[in-house]
Amino acid sequence: MDSCIFCNIAAGLSPARILYQDAQVIAFHDIRPLAPVHLLVAPRQHIESLNQAGPQDEALLGHMLLVARQLAQQEGIAQSGYRLVINTGSDGGQTIFHLHLHILGGKRIAYPLRDL
Ligand code: AMP
Ligand code: ZN
Repeated sequence: MDSCIFCNIAAGLSPARILYQDAQVIAFHDIRPLAPVHLLVAPRQHIESLNQAGPQDEALLGHMLLVARQLAQQEGIAQSGYRLVINTGSDGGQTIFHLHLHILGGKRIAYPLRDL
């Protein structure tokens, strides 16, 4: 997908502060951090959202979680805690339509969420 920013980051065509990458996923700092630690884990493959993931993506989705756990450890927030978020679709607040997992930590993350 030429016009997809996360595909371009995965292909090395757009800049990002990359923390980790392997054959399946890429992880980088969110450009507009909402917490002291705000990282994104995205598959290299263009999957629009969780709604487009299927049984064939089961291993990939599990891998994204384990990479997130590894990064939380590496960035020093595993013990203090963190939140993983996958915004999906309009009500979910998704703005980039390439599946990604947010890792938020380094402060207490507000919950329950406020109404918009
Ligand atoms: P979502 O609202 O779940 O679709 O999240 C999209 C996230 O991507 C937001 O937190 C943005 O700040 C972040 N973002 C958008 N463009 C970039 C970029 N070029 N590099 C890193 N993060 C980005
Ligand atoms: Zn994409």
